[in-house]
Amino acid sequence: MRIAVLGAGPAGLLFSLLVKRRFPAWRVEVFEQNPADATFGFGVVFSQGALAFLERDAPELHRQLAERMERWPMQRIVHRDERVDIDGNGFSAIARLELNQFLQALCGEAGVDVAYGRVVGGLEELGPADLIVGADGLNSLVRRSREREFAPHVRWLTNKFAWYGTEQRFECLTLTFRESADGAFVAHHYRYSPRMSTFIVECDAATWRRAGLDRMSGAESRAYCERVFAPDLDGHPLVSNKSIWRQFPLLTNRHWSAGNAVLIGDALRTVHFSIGSGTRLAFEDAIALDRALGEAGEDVPAALAAFERERRPVVEKLLAAAAASSFWYEDFPKKMAQPAWRLAYDYMTRSGRMSDERLRETAPGFMALVDAVRAQTPR
Ligand SMILES: Cc1cc2nc3c(=O)[nH]c(=O)nc-3n(C[C@H](O)[C@H](O)[C@H](O)COP(=O)(O)OP(=O)(O)OC[C@H]3O[C@@H](n4cnc5c(N)ncnc54)[C@H](O)[C@@H]3O)c2cc1C
Repeated sequence: MRIAVLGAGPAGLLFSLLVKRRFPAWRVEVFEQNPADATFGFGVVFSQGALAFLERDAPELHRQLAERMERWPMQRIVHRDERVDIDGNGFSAIARLELNQFLQALCGEAGVDVAYGRVVGGLEELGPADLIVGADGLNSLVRRSREREFAPHVRWLTNKFAWYGTEQRFECLTLTFRESADGAFVAHHYRYSPRMSTFIVECDAATWRRAGLDRMSGAESRAYCERVFAPDLDGHPLVSNKSIWRQFPLLTNRHWSAGNAVLIGDALRTVHFSIGSGTRLAFEDAIALDRALGEAGEDVPAALAAFERERRPVVEKLLAAAAASSFWYEDFPKKMAQPAWRLAYDYMTRSGRMSDERLRETAPGFMALVDAVRAQTPR
């Protein structure tokens, strides 16, 4: 049995590692266009719940990964210079590159062949394979090569965002809202290593154009964002890593496999970064596909059918919550008319699944603040 995996991101590496450990006699070959020491973006963050699956399904891996992560027990909203802390939900974060290199080292030990610096232009370059795994991210070649069968659908969000890093160390996962003369901006930021933080800047399309960001060079854009978030960056510059302005695509596929090819991770579907779950879903796909092969063995069609049957309901539920979260941001400038505590409350209840009772259980400190302000506010 030979498996060709396109893409050495979190999905491709974790899947290859697990399946090779399960079936040491199978040939598992990964093709990756980037060199081994490069990736896009900066850090990724996981909620406590998001890592619970790894602890359950791959406890040793979870333990090794946990040692490498930054962690904090809450998140924070900053609006009009006021900080509102939301207790109860812990998060952890790691550099994307460190995560990939950690998995890459384990793949090497397990006997997975990873070819770096190999830009694959057509599926025939993967050689004869019993199974092709498209772990090749948002612009997946595997998906594009069998587009009619996968039947993808993309909905573009209208906001613009750019993914920067900075050496400013933030205490916890924070959403900071700022007004400029051109309009409203929000930054999603958190430290992912002792030295570095992720800093994603987002604004609506009208603000982006008014600010002239559509006409600015990369350096000018970066300088503009540094001015907007000067109170938060405390003199630290923003760092670019191909940090261009983009719109987020919400991608889904009607079919998850086509013949002997299957999609996992971002190639299969994207989830908005505001819920920090893209990598988590990529990991869960990898675990589920490995498990399906564990049960079906070399019967690839049976494995692919089982993979989709098991995974689709779970994914669809999470996608609904992620979509609600991303639509909340589409409207965020209007929400900034609210005081900080109200904006934080609006944010926490954005998915429509969080009641006051549940919030009192999960974030008692935050809800004590909300209840106290409400009690003082005449109705
Ligand atoms: C701004 C932003 C912030 C994010 N923050 C978070 C976060 O905090 N937490 C989180 O969990 N997720 C986050 N995500 C999502 C996360 O980055 C993705 O969900 C995750 O990387 C998906 O992993 P993957 O392995 O499926 O794809 P990728 O990480 O995209 O990996 C795909 C790999 O395939 C390779 N490849 C593609 N085409 C070819 C080809 N033709 N030949 C050879 N190689 C190829 C690419 O070089 C790449 O290495 C964020 C995303 C964005 C845009």
